[in-house]
Amino acid sequence: MKFVVQQHEPTTVPVRLDAQAEVSEQAPRFPVHRIYCVGRNYSEHVKEMGGDPKQEPPVFFSKPANACVTFNQDVAYPQATNDLHYEVELVVALKSGGKDIDLKSVMDCVYGYAVGIDFTRRDLQDIAKSKGRPWDLAKGFDQSAPISAILPISEVGQLGDRQISLKLNDETRQQASLNEMIWSVPEIIAELSKYFELKSGDIIYTGTPSGVAAATKGDRIVACVEGVGTLDFKIV
Ligand code: MN
Repeated sequence: MKFVVQQHEPTTVPVRLDAQAEVSEQAPRFPVHRIYCVGRNYSEHVKEMGGDPKQEPPVFFSKPANACVTFNQDVAYPQATNDLHYEVELVVALKSGGKDIDLKSVMDCVYGYAVGIDFTRRDLQDIAKSKGRPWDLAKGFDQSAPISAILPISEVGQLGDRQISLKLNDETRQQASLNEMIWSVPEIIAELSKYFELKSGDIIYTGTPSGVAAATKGDRIVACVEGVGTLDFKIV
């Protein structure tokens, strides 16, 4: 018996070509190659998870590229959890890559920025942590990576102290400044390139500030990075 390997369309994320333009289904698309994520990158969040921000380096993990959810589509509450947590994050999209990239040239790889949610099955993550198991079951499930349109870096400029925030049913649950990140965007890319050959189409979720908690069916999530983008969707 022969099996035919089917070629799937790459998962794509819409691109917002200027800050004013409304993104439509016909918007240019950014083909996602891989999703990398950083854990423990805001000190208040490290503390709320029971860690010591000074002693623990960021943790890298990944999600399948087809975990992205675009255009503010609803997210189906996933199976196998009773504790689905939201984590709002700045997302960095790469237009080029390499191995062991020098910190000085690393920003040449960046195409643009977006806002995303790193959905986490916290109950499964707690089991994985306590037993020293991988995080795949906690992090790598379908629809675990909602993402806004990507705004090119030329439209964004310096990130500086812009605010990152998340509202659950109109109540602010997460709010921080991007300059509270323990590892900056250039440091994250340079460090990640020590372990993986980064490629055009890679996107990186850069960690979440404090305030993570459970969300459930019927909840509305509005997430924002000031001057970058907004996500607005429901869990169904
Ligand atoms: Mn996260």
